[in-house]
Amino acid sequence: MSKKVLIINTGGTLASVAKEHGLTPGLTTESMLKELHIVAGEAQLTTQEFSALDSANIFPEDWARLAQMISRERGCFDGIVVIHGTDTLAYTSSMLSFMLQNIDIPVVITGSQLSISNPVADAMENLRCAIFMAQSGCPGVFVAFNRKVMLGCRASKVRSLSFDAFDSINCENVAEISSIGMKINERMVPKKKGVFRLQDRYCANVAVLKLFPGMHREVLKMYAERGYRAFYIEAFGLGGMPFVRHDFIGEIRSMTEQGMTFLVGTQCRFEGSSLEVYETGRRALEAGAIQAYDMTSEAAVTKLMWVLGQTEDPAQIREYFGLSLCGEVTVP
Ligand code: ASP
Repeated sequence: MSKKVLIINTGGTLASVAKEHGLTPGLTTESMLKELHIVAGEAQLTTQEFSALDSANIFPEDWARLAQMISRERGCFDGIVVIHGTDTLAYTSSMLSFMLQNIDIPVVITGSQLSISNPVADAMENLRCAIFMAQSGCPGVFVAFNRKVMLGCRASKVRSLSFDAFDSINCENVAEISSIGMKINERMVPKKKGVFRLQDRYCANVAVLKLFPGMHREVLKMYAERGYRAFYIEAFGLGGMPFVRHDFIGEIRSMTEQGMTFLVGTQCRFEGSSLEVYETGRRALEAGAIQAYDMTSEAAVTKLMWVLGQTEDPAQIREYFGLSLCGEVTVP
């Protein structure tokens, strides 16, 4: 029996047309129907418009709305495909991974580097892969791009122009398409840990800071004075931060004592952080910093927003970061 797949269109390059001010999302699923049917094979398609936005214009409230829409529709479909701009796609796929706890069907996010109206675009191939994955029966939130399927909470945009725009960071792909068809890496398919729950609360008062030599610790206070409650710090190498002359770590200590949360990772894209190795990291741990380990920065910041939406208790916040909720982190 043919599978039912819902396509939700949020916009992005895949659905773009050239306008006076540059490429703008303007194609509806209605106007893409011919192409969608070409790549859908046997699948029965239903389409829904969510927005017509370049993904630079997607905000946390859109993530919650999208999660609500998916939660409402999930009972009627075998799988859901979300068309999304590539620029912030990995933030959306990460946040949906947290908001759609124990989702029981595949939710596959895709986009493209060229509009579907362009004859040499990657759009059809990416949609084909996403629709195929949506029929796989593998539950979870995924990203399909350039013939590979990644966990939504591990994908990151790593190239701004190439068709191979996304990589799965510190984690194997969930599936790949080659001349032998789609091969699913069963080990990477998330195991259901309980019943589905929409958990769409979040707190967006989170700052992301990329540390650089000479960064003033006062920056942290400025954010706190403006009501920010948590930081994701992209520190050096394995997670090092200064304490000699500019005592950045000292500031983390006093602000943690006042109830702020500091999640610390690395600015290296691959292999993650491990703060206990150097004194510059170990002191930060002693000051109260929480480790991000091998999370992508997209997963780190969205997990931080999501966790703060679930609890304000510092001990519970810490506990959440010691757990992998949907495969986003390898906790040693
Ligand atoms: N600016 C576009 C977006 O993120 C880029 C793309 O879709 O590839 O919406």
